[in-house]
Amino acid sequence: MRRTKIIATLGPASQDGAVLEAMVRAGVDLVRINAAHGDRDLIERLAHEARAAASRVGRDVGVLLDLAGPKIRIGRFRGGALTLAEGDRLVLDTELGDAPADGGRVGVNYPALPSDVHPGDRLLLDDGQLVLSVTATTATTVDCRVVTGGVLSDHKGLNRQGGGLSALCLTDKDRADIRTAADIGADYVALSFARDADDVREAHRLLDAAGSDAGVIAKIERAEALANVRPLCDIAAGVMVARGDLAVEIGDWELAGAQKRILRTAHETKALVITATQMMESMVHSPVPTRAEVLDVANAVFDGTDAVMLSAESAVGRHPVKAVEAMARVCVGAEQERVTTRSRLRGDERWETVNEAIAMTAVHAASGLGARAIAALTESGTTALLCSRVRTAVPIYALTRNARTRARVTLMRGVVPVDFDPLAVGSDVPREAVRRLLEIGAVKVGDIVVVTRGDREGVAGGTNALRILRAEASRG
Ligand code: PGA
Ligand code: MN
Repeated sequence: MRRTKIIATLGPASQDGAVLEAMVRAGVDLVRINAAHGDRDLIERLAHEARAAASRVGRDVGVLLDLAGPKIRIGRFRGGALTLAEGDRLVLDTELGDAPADGGRVGVNYPALPSDVHPGDRLLLDDGQLVLSVTATTATTVDCRVVTGGVLSDHKGLNRQGGGLSALCLTDKDRADIRTAADIGADYVALSFARDADDVREAHRLLDAAGSDAGVIAKIERAEALANVRPLCDIAAGVMVARGDLAVEIGDWELAGAQKRILRTAHETKALVITATQMMESMVHSPVPTRAEVLDVANAVFDGTDAVMLSAESAVGRHPVKAVEAMARVCVGAEQERVTTRSRLRGDERWETVNEAIAMTAVHAASGLGARAIAALTESGTTALLCSRVRTAVPIYALTRNARTRARVTLMRGVVPVDFDPLAVGSDVPREAVRRLLEIGAVKVGDIVVVTRGDREGVAGGTNALRILRAEASRG
């Protein structure tokens, strides 16, 4: 069994039904649909294809819709690209918009750029491949000198080193995409360039209005968000270490420390956490990852990430299935290390709810007894979530008849969704739950199973009891 979850971004390399099916078999737990590269039709089609593939394989796969957010982008060049050398001049012109430009100018989609930047600021293009230094501004233009040159093609992203570009978080496209998220029943929505808790509150309000209960994942990818990790973790379902934009904003030398701090804060606050971008980037072309990539994925596992994510590797790469296989292999290997198996129970902490008391006691009992499984009979998935917030080697099974809950727990480290209807079995529901785990091969006769449940089956938020059972041979 693998505890760390794998998210695969869908794209041209992975929208075919057979490829999707192979990716699910290889271990994809959630698919990520990037709204930056798709309209409503494409988003709907990808969600449908992914779910159809998952159901052919017989597995629950979650759907994460990643909102485009206010990414600042340059416009277009006549000819599609411009080669820039060190010392060249480039004018960013907010009035050009998307009109093809030449003569050392290019449009930019952010009208406030000239008032947000100052001479001496460094602007980074194409994830930091090219670097500009601001020399002057007018009301509508930013005059720059090229510090690091290269080929700049249409629509590349633009960041300021140090952050501080004040584009609002939720764009009009994001608002429309939130309605699409509701329509496709997305399990999670990722908020690109979130700044603070208010951005998440606004997303919650829009999701509510659209009738969606999707969990919000705040992407930590601008310098301001890094200062607000704790409030973002407190209010959002989870956070993403969005290393692509984050590294550009804060500088690559700050990235490793930032990643570790974000993971630590997520653990302190019980937020889910995803580690993303360029985890196995060389696999866009190569069938095997580099050693450095292997170590990067393993280190995220050691540091307790809930999920690792594939971006270009699965969206446009040549080896989408092999990339999933490699990730799965490296996660399982890292999970054998003691740093990830040793239980980390906090004896002195206060529990906020009865549900949490039951969950923590279940993990404690399971690891102390050497139980084979924790079986959380859950309606909303909360008990499974709480169990998964402490480090333990014991697998957590979320048993529920609620398909949305099963899709939701796909993101939680160590949690396996199991279809189980407590209202359709005999009166000794915990025993029936253990029988179900025997049936799917999760436990063997004689294994100890710690079962959590509520008095009233099928009601959310009522977990108040714990039973410890031994799996018995079926009576026939
Ligand atoms: P993106 O977000 O792939 O949507 O840019 C992830 C990141 O910036 O790392
Ligand atoms: Mn990003």
